[in-house]
Amino acid sequence: MKRTALALLLATGAALLLAWGTPAHAILLGPSMPPATQVAYRLTATVEGPATPDPTGTVDPTGAPEPTGTAEPTGTAEPTDTVEPTATPRPDFPAWMKLFWGRRVHRIRTTRRYVALTFDDGPNFRTKEAVRILDRYGAKGTFFATGCQSKRAHMAAVNRYVIAHGHELANHTMHHARLNKSYAADVKEIMALEKLLVEQTGQGTRWVRAMGGAVDKTGLRATRNTKHLYAQWSLSIADSVRGYTPPSWLYHNIVDHIRPGAIVLMHVTHPETLKALPWIVRELKRRGYTMVTLSELAPLGKPYP
Ligand SMILES: [Zn+2]
Repeated sequence: MKRTALALLLATGAALLLAWGTPAHAILLGPSMPPATQVAYRLTATVEGPATPDPTGTVDPTGAPEPTGTAEPTGTAEPTDTVEPTATPRPDFPAWMKLFWGRRVHRIRTTRRYVALTFDDGPNFRTKEAVRILDRYGAKGTFFATGCQSKRAHMAAVNRYVIAHGHELANHTMHHARLNKSYAADVKEIMALEKLLVEQTGQGTRWVRAMGGAVDKTGLRATRNTKHLYAQWSLSIADSVRGYTPPSWLYHNIVDHIRPGAIVLMHVTHPETLKALPWIVRELKRRGYTMVTLSELAPLGKPYP
């Protein structure tokens, strides 16, 4: 008996020591940044406890130099305050989401070197390749899926693959639609895909993007009322202009213009983009950028402007 008690005591001590030795950024980001697999709506009312730092390595320990002593700019409250179990049937709306409701989010206002790479128009057979490239460098991405693509053979597995590898799956509407028609049509576009993705992956999505970024006030209202945030972008790789663009141009489209808090638009439909992706990720890392999912980027700052 005594021995067991001693072992317990020792284990607790070790755990405390471990927590003490956790780097500040891990503590800062850990609890408020759930691994992307938990990012979407959970069905149970779990409270994100302040327990352990995120072990999935969303934060590159060698990456961004942390500005010392900066407080969380959004003032995100204690992790335990982020859930209001009685407020909504989907209880996992962290406090930071309040800042973004009903807005076009182009980028996040922060001076810290965090950016979100987003990949539209999947899933397709290149999605897994993109995931593998990101994984190789410890980077995270957000994949905006359409319903047309998700319904195709084998694509449910690709959507699951994205989530299983710690990336974020997002909603690019059922029919790759503009969200500027009517309120009812916009809601339908978002929710039809939402339903499909929940069936495929067991999770809902947090972010919506319209085809070509075409959203109006009504579309934003539809996005908000379906409990989603709307993501535009601040930097486009410009891979969807007509014709062939050399991967080196695509690379420069990103690395010459990247800024902290950027939301980068790319497409998984272009082989040149996949070719440029490793160069981009490597160069951004070299400059101290950490590539995170949209739901990890947003809590680091405020909407811009
Ligand atoms: Zn698109």
